[in-house]
Amino acid sequence: MLRLIVWQSGFCPYNAYMNSVFVPNIPAPESDTVFMREALRLAEQAAQAGEVPVGAVVVKDGQIIGRGSNAPISRHDPTAHAEIAALREAAQHLGNYRLVGCELFVTLEPCAMCVGAMFHARIARVVFGARDPKTGAAGSVLDLFAETRLNHHSRLQGGVLAPECGKVLSDFFALRRAQQQRKDLPSPHPSPSGRGG
Ligand SMILES: [Zn+2]
Repeated sequence: MLRLIVWQSGFCPYNAYMNSVFVPNIPAPESDTVFMREALRLAEQAAQAGEVPVGAVVVKDGQIIGRGSNAPISRHDPTAHAEIAALREAAQHLGNYRLVGCELFVTLEPCAMCVGAMFHARIARVVFGARDPKTGAAGSVLDLFAETRLNHHSRLQGGVLAPECGKVLSDFFALRRAQQQRKDLPSPHPSPSGRGG
């Protein structure tokens, strides 16, 4: 079984849960942070579209060959996670459903569906940023990377740019909460219809 988890970057503001699992002070390779920054840019694109901000890239031989932003709401597609979009684009680029020798970088710990797709694609290495204590399938809720009954495993690394990856999520949810609270407040100048104008 190929399995490697190295935590980096220190505390993740996304969830204090991070505190219990990371191993600090192991610097990420420069190329990992470069690819994760591109995934972060794609996460910010998702946020601007009103989607939960998650971004992913697939890399082969040091080149990005697939990009994805989370888009299940706008696409009316429960499978439209950033990782799936990046895998699809990379597979089209290579003309092959197997993405041998490829790495996948994603800002948030992948869910079970996405880890399954990565294993089907034979992704060699998965790098993620922030942990997802609700649906993470790389150790938070369950650990498919440690499941010896599955016939493929990818190397796994978590915590690359975790604070930045967590911040894009926490900023998004803080904004959503503020918008919701504004909606719930009675208007200081109610319209004649009484619906807050
Ligand atoms: Zn997913």
